Amino acid sequence: MPELPEVETIVRGLARRVVGDTITSVWIGSRPQPLKSPAMEIAKTLEGKRIATIHRAGKHIVFDLERDPSAREHKTKGEKATARKKTASAVATTAQWVVHLGMTGRIVVCEPGAEIAKHTHLIATLASGCELRFIDPRMFGKLSVHAATFDPGGVEPLDMSEEQFVTLFRGRKTPIKSALLNQKLVRGVGNIYADESLFRAGIRPRRRASTLTRQQLAKLYESVREVLREAIALGGSSISDYVDADGEEGFFQLQHRVYGREGEKCLTCGGPIRRIVLVGRSSHYCAKCQK
Ligand SMILES: [Zn+2]
Repeated sequence: MPELPEVETIVRGLARRVVGDTITSVWIGSRPQPLKSPAMEIAKTLEGKRIATIHRAGKHIVFDLERDPSAREHKTKGEKATARKKTASAVATTAQWVVHLGMTGRIVVCEPGAEIAKHTHLIATLASGCELRFIDPRMFGKLSVHAATFDPGGVEPLDMSEEQFVTLFRGRKTPIKSALLNQKLVRGVGNIYADESLFRAGIRPRRRASTLTRQQLAKLYESVREVLREAIALGGSSISDYVDADGEEGFFQLQHRVYGREGEKCLTCGGPIRRIVLVGRSSHYCAKCQK
């Protein structure tokens, strides 16, 4: 499942290739699962829009769309009338297209002749001739459109202050790992990076957040940011099967110090890495280095 660094890598790859391009038409498949907005609404929102920017919000990919004055549009009579009224202030009408990759979702930029992969749920044809395709075998991914600024909740870990971080976690009765995974607090931190951050901070996943000192929380804040920044610099680490925006497989992998290393030696002390299950997720830690 792509985590924040992978999504950031995908966003950067997509931005290089499609920002400034205009979506001329949209095809949407018949499977309703990935559609979190009605198909008609998605098509209507995307068609004729220019991709102004692409950014990441937590693990969501957000396309900021603006009206392209040069694009041909099919309008109903009512819309034509409204459009005429608006011509005086024909500034960009903005909307957002939000893509969440879920477990197995991929968004790729293809040449129009490229073979259509199985499980393709959306194809957006661009004025440049390229196509943006959303492919998702397991269909936990989500496609939606929004008129206003999309807000997935939580705070961006790379934009937050130490004070904000400490305030969010101090006094929580839940294990610190569960709190880190709670997307309503910090957005985008998933299982792998939570384990790695806790290892670097020397904190066991099961420790209750409320038992951590201010200093430990400050150390964790630094660790979370360090781990995410390193992974982004490496282009995101990849565990499962998905590709980057160029349709090519493979990201460099951040060397995991604990995640997925059950039974192997701790790189710091040589002790065994342990695995426990916490709220249904595997958690890896070193009992000597983490307290
Ligand atoms: Zn150790």
